[in-house]
Amino acid sequence: MIRPTPCSASTLPAWAALLRIARGIVICLWALAAAAPATAASPLDQALLRLREQDVRLARLGQRLAQGNARLCDETMPFTGLVLHAVTQYAPSAREAAQRLFLFAQPVSVEAVLPSSPADAAGVQANDGLVSINGAPVDDGNASARQSSEPRDRVEQSLAALPIDQPINFGLRRGGEQITASVQPVPVCRSRFEVVWNDKTVAHSDGEIIQISSSLLDRFDDGQLAVLLAHELAHTILRHRDRLEAADVANGLLAEFGRNRRLNRQAEDEADLLSIHLLYNAGFDPRTAPDFWRGAGKKLDPGLLRSRIYRSPRQRAAAMDKEIERLPDSQSFSKAEALLRRRYEPLE
Ligand SMILES: [Zn+2]
Repeated sequence: MIRPTPCSASTLPAWAALLRIARGIVICLWALAAAAPATAASPLDQALLRLREQDVRLARLGQRLAQGNARLCDETMPFTGLVLHAVTQYAPSAREAAQRLFLFAQPVSVEAVLPSSPADAAGVQANDGLVSINGAPVDDGNASARQSSEPRDRVEQSLAALPIDQPINFGLRRGGEQITASVQPVPVCRSRFEVVWNDKTVAHSDGEIIQISSSLLDRFDDGQLAVLLAHELAHTILRHRDRLEAADVANGLLAEFGRNRRLNRQAEDEADLLSIHLLYNAGFDPRTAPDFWRGAGKKLDPGLLRSRIYRSPRQRAAAMDKEIERLPDSQSFSKAEALLRRRYEPLE
């Protein structure tokens, strides 16, 4: 953001003393013009631009974990570096502003391109509209439909199903022209990441998509967010949803009692331990995890109201400390074999 220049005559050179008033006016006008983009943006515009920032931030952190650990994952997918959005994701009251800011040359478009990603190297740009993938038209749904992320989800699911070692040919619309880009993807652990816009403190993995509430992104720095993401990615890699379902573990209130509680807690413990290895392999400092639960993350703990499937932050941090001692020497990859063996074992 350009900072406005103070409209003070003292900033003028001495030779301009006779022109002080005139120069002062010129500088003030220049300063106001320079500041205009920031001051002219409506609260809605600012919120939408902020949304894009958060989406990019989550995509960048998620990609680092998913790519750094691709060798650990038996389910991978091609990563392009595209952050996609659909016009239908925006509430009808915000659609006009979203269309003005992000153009939406097509109902599903490129919200952002991660720097140095395969899509970046292939020349794809933010606001390019998605016309086709490998020659197949993108099913863009009905742009006037109710608020829904379905058109984007369908595209992301079809991309995730493509081979990891073959180029993906995109047909794109940019500035009224149709162009093509051939993107050579790289393999990442199969998982999608999504910011959920609310003030709750939610981090959740359903085995396919990891959702993080925007309030968590606002509260924590990149290292701390990586701790939360690594825990959720560990749930995905360890197939906890499938294993809990196979073990007939109940949801809701019943989840907190007896065998349900024991198996849910086992899944949480496994995710905490594997998260240490995921952070390490992705080049994050794994000590950030126990530090998080002793510091900033402690505030996420509701104390007596804590779900009984979770251990206390203090206990979680202590278990993570021990797991850090099991990491290999620096520079080598952690295969986390003992933990990963469990992903096909029943919870019992
Ligand atoms: Zn968990």
